[in-house]
Amino acid sequence: MADFWDKQIERADYLAREESGSKELLAFYVQLLRAQKDVYESFRTRKDWLPSGDLERDLPVVMSSVTGVLECVARHGPEALTSEAQMLLAGQPHNLAHMLLDYWRSPSDTQFFAKSILQPYARWLAETSAVPVVRELAVCERTCPFFGVSPQLIYLVSKESSAESGVRDLLCATCLSTWEFRRVVCANCGEERPAKLSYFHSPVFDHIRIDACDSCQHYLKAIDLTRLGHAVPLVDEIYAVPLDLWAREHGYTKIELNLVGL
Ligand SMILES: [Zn+2]
Ligand SMILES: [Zn+2]
Repeated sequence: MADFWDKQIERADYLAREESGSKELLAFYVQLLRAQKDVYESFRTRKDWLPSGDLERDLPVVMSSVTGVLECVARHGPEALTSEAQMLLAGQPHNLAHMLLDYWRSPSDTQFFAKSILQPYARWLAETSAVPVVRELAVCERTCPFFGVSPQLIYLVSKESSAESGVRDLLCATCLSTWEFRRVVCANCGEERPAKLSYFHSPVFDHIRIDACDSCQHYLKAIDLTRLGHAVPLVDEIYAVPLDLWAREHGYTKIELNLVGL
């Protein structure tokens, strides 16, 4: 739904003015979200077209809407990305097409451009119930049931039916949909021993914590909607970038980098 993007944009716009967060990164993220929304809208409003789920087949449509994202990054992005965006804008379209197909076949959080461009596409697939034609999906509770990729973050919600056992949701890094996940398990390696799982919290970001695993040394951020109901997980995750720096200093690697590269 178009509402999804508006909600992210509004929250990022608001948090970009807060002192405690990462203002510059959020200011960039607002612009990126706007460009992603335009990509999504171009798919949604396209006449007589629904995605097939096969990116190779859908590529002409996807390629026709990527310029906005590249121009946005060239204009507003951090230095490390602006020159690459300019290069892609000036380069042969088939280079970009290859990049998108590579990501589709084997997603990686370091492929910033492909991830930014394909998030709206993957989300539109999920919403139109098109089945993505991708590699063989490994069936695993730690990867998105729709797309088979890593989660971007964890979020905690209160669900009356499961108050006792406790569940949390994972949010997919590519199609941005969510799935339920058990509470005391590492989202990377599946470690279940409580002594190996650590939680770190700073009063500055009261509703956000680091969920880390000492078996695989990986972590993700958990956004606790029971503490702040109007938080928007994808955006609040970026707001709390200082926690990533802390986790890195303590030797943890993030399961999936976010779109500002942290
Ligand atoms: Zn997904
Ligand atoms: Zn682990």
